[in-house]
Amino acid sequence: MTDYLNLNFQNRFIGLGPEFYQAKAPDPVTDPYLVDFSPLAGQLIDLPPEAGGNKNFIDRFSGNNLMEGAEPLAMAYSGHQFGSYNPRLGDGRGLLLGEVQNQNQEIWDIHLKGAGPTRFARGFDGRATLNSSIREHLASEALNGLGIPTTRSLAVIGIRELIYRQKPELAAILVRIADSHIRFGSFEFFHYTGQEKNVRRLLEFSIQNYYQDIIEESDRYRIFFQRTVQCTAKLIAKWQAVGFIHGVMNTDNMCITGTTFDYGPYGFMDRFAPDHTPNHSDTHGRYAYNQQPEIGFWNLNKLAETLVTLIGAENLEEEMKQYQPLFNRFYREEIGKKLGLAILDSEFTQLVQRMFQLLHEHQFDYTNFFRFLADHPANGNNGELKSWLSQYLALAQREGISHEERKAQMDSINPKFILRNHLLQTALDKALKESDFSEIVRLRILLEDPFQDRPEVFEKYGIDSEHYAQDTPETFLCRQTSCSA
Ligand code: AMP
Ligand code: MG
Repeated sequence: MTDYLNLNFQNRFIGLGPEFYQAKAPDPVTDPYLVDFSPLAGQLIDLPPEAGGNKNFIDRFSGNNLMEGAEPLAMAYSGHQFGSYNPRLGDGRGLLLGEVQNQNQEIWDIHLKGAGPTRFARGFDGRATLNSSIREHLASEALNGLGIPTTRSLAVIGIRELIYRQKPELAAILVRIADSHIRFGSFEFFHYTGQEKNVRRLLEFSIQNYYQDIIEESDRYRIFFQRTVQCTAKLIAKWQAVGFIHGVMNTDNMCITGTTFDYGPYGFMDRFAPDHTPNHSDTHGRYAYNQQPEIGFWNLNKLAETLVTLIGAENLEEEMKQYQPLFNRFYREEIGKKLGLAILDSEFTQLVQRMFQLLHEHQFDYTNFFRFLADHPANGNNGELKSWLSQYLALAQREGISHEERKAQMDSINPKFILRNHLLQTALDKALKESDFSEIVRLRILLEDPFQDRPEVFEKYGIDSEHYAQDTPETFLCRQTSCSA
């Protein structure tokens, strides 16, 4: 039975009309093959766990056999890249296949990345490398496992085509599922081409589809912006807390629903180095870890500029003023949870400041530090750490919960496993050099619940817990990836 592949397409975006997109079918591909399928992402569109192994699945999600109801299109957008406006972006290699309603009446965008060149391709080949597709696949599912809003990856489908970057590379299609593909840059496109009417239509569309509760409000435009500020601040607070570095926070990679969007040269903090950027091309560190909160503000400002005539400069300014306090509040709460502390007073602030100094000075592994703290809060042998730990214990005692309770709370928010560079590299090497995708499966399974050992699951997939939880080896620290990888 493959009835489950008859998806319930709704396709709201197409109603906006041709100024918003180019209607185009995916280019056919020869012998597409499954690299990996995420059953958890499949649940979003009611696919059973075995769907990935179905030949029809590969046929349809590679774009070879267009599903009934799909109306593929490449979206128009522009955006600010590294601070400069680029008027010519748009889905050069991506296609929104359509929007699918599931049994819970939720609507999800299905997007193919690497489905052939579109009108927006600017001479590029319209394809994605297998390498970058696996990177996006694993990171999407890992961030979801961490409880961070993100686009999802349903599958990576390999295609038998060589594409040329610095060298010939294998190509693939990534099947992305997202609540929205509307970027800050989607608004910028219409604003900078003088299409004010379409800015308004996109805004109405966004409210209607993502914030139905405010449709009747007379100041719904302003509330929309307010919500965008809120969800962006919250998202970046979560990135900072977990040590995720996006790497390319251009406005075309910022989704209006506050969802982690477009994975390129991302990274996770290993030894704590706040000015680290995983993006090899980012020589000035514009998108470094410690710049992300500020860049979120900058990007929101660019979105605000497109909405001035609809919302008013003063109103927008007032909403922008909320960003920093909101971010601070969310971030403080996140760090409080990581430390198992609920009293967030000035002593807490001091403790946290000192903690980050220590992390930096001693180059502790950011992830493992918090697990260590939950296990052995009284174990520091190093002088400075020891004195910090006694301060920490003093604050922990004020909370009136047992050590075991605090440990349980902390371990439910501080991951034991993250997508470390060396783990990812092993999965990529096996896939690219040996067509062995088993390590991708292992990492996806490991990271779908990164907070605990699951002995039965680990045994089934051959996952050695201690190996995956180890600090990143020296040679893989602060790795950088180039944008075209
Ligand atoms: P990204 O780096 O994926 O955010 O892409 C930035 C812009 O370049 C977007 O407009 C993409 O659609 C476009 N782009 C990137 N790679 C390709 C490619 N191989 N073919 C066509 N367009 C591309
Ligand atoms: Mg992009």
